[in-house]
Amino acid sequence: MDLGIDGKYALVCAASKGLGRACAMHLAREGAEVTIVARTLDSLEKAAADIRADSGAKVTIAVGDVATDEGRQTALAACPQPDILVANCGGPPPGDFRQFSREDWIRAFDANMMSSIELIKATVDGMIARKFGRIINITSAAVKNPIPALGLSNGIRAGLTGFVAGLSRETVRYNVTINNLLPGPFDTDRLRGGFLARTRSGGQSMEEVAAKAAAANPAGRFGDPDEFGAACAFLCSQYGGFITGQNLVMDGGDYRGML
Ligand code: NAP
Repeated sequence: MDLGIDGKYALVCAASKGLGRACAMHLAREGAEVTIVARTLDSLEKAAADIRADSGAKVTIAVGDVATDEGRQTALAACPQPDILVANCGGPPPGDFRQFSREDWIRAFDANMMSSIELIKATVDGMIARKFGRIINITSAAVKNPIPALGLSNGIRAGLTGFVAGLSRETVRYNVTINNLLPGPFDTDRLRGGFLARTRSGGQSMEEVAAKAAAANPAGRFGDPDEFGAACAFLCSQYGGFITGQNLVMDGGDYRGML
């Protein structure tokens, strides 16, 4: 299938590792010129080299924190007119909401809601003028299937989801779609980091904790970031123009709701 995005400019945030990197990889394989953003130069350079070697695509790096104005300006300077935006940022920490301060909530708001909204604000009108745009927010299955210990994520990402639900209906007539991808457990550093924290309180090894969690999923395994990247590339394709305002859960069927 030709996804029809050869030569398009893609800005992929939080993309030196994990889900963002997998999205960048698949977009590059389809011929998009990709700019990847993260805070750490070394891992960003390594990801860029891997993506170039795999896809032959042009890959640019931008070192910055997309939770900040400065970091977003750096990203947009490297890719001023993206046709494709994958808005992504590190997730907030788990914890008991009683321990979260107002500052913790504001940090999560900046990282997991405002970073997407500001990037959309900076890019959506150019997409509308060019009559092509694909915006993907990487959120979390917790938006539909809340995890009690991830109160910051459940709450803040639901806010972004509500915002996108409205805007996505205004942009689609200009062939600019906005959708959210909702990962369940995907095998990334973020997921493994959560298991590591549990081994400290538990007495089990990380492998034991991970194996139990994988077995408890209806698919009997974790998601592969490669699967996530492929879904992202499809939504960003020429065939994605009639899909907007959607929240695609990718969690092996763990969310039991029918809608
Ligand atoms: P990951 O493997 O830990 O990768 C995170 C990537 O984001 C790294 O490249 C990291 O590089 C970059 N990053 C983090 N904070 C950033 C910031 N402020 N500005 C720019 N880059 C930043 O994480 P992941 O599993 O791919 O998760 C991606 C998103 O999906 C997160 O919001 C996470 O909460 C959410 N999610 C993941 C899962 C899962 O199972 N994996 C499930 C539900 C939700 P630097 O540290 O160098 O910046």
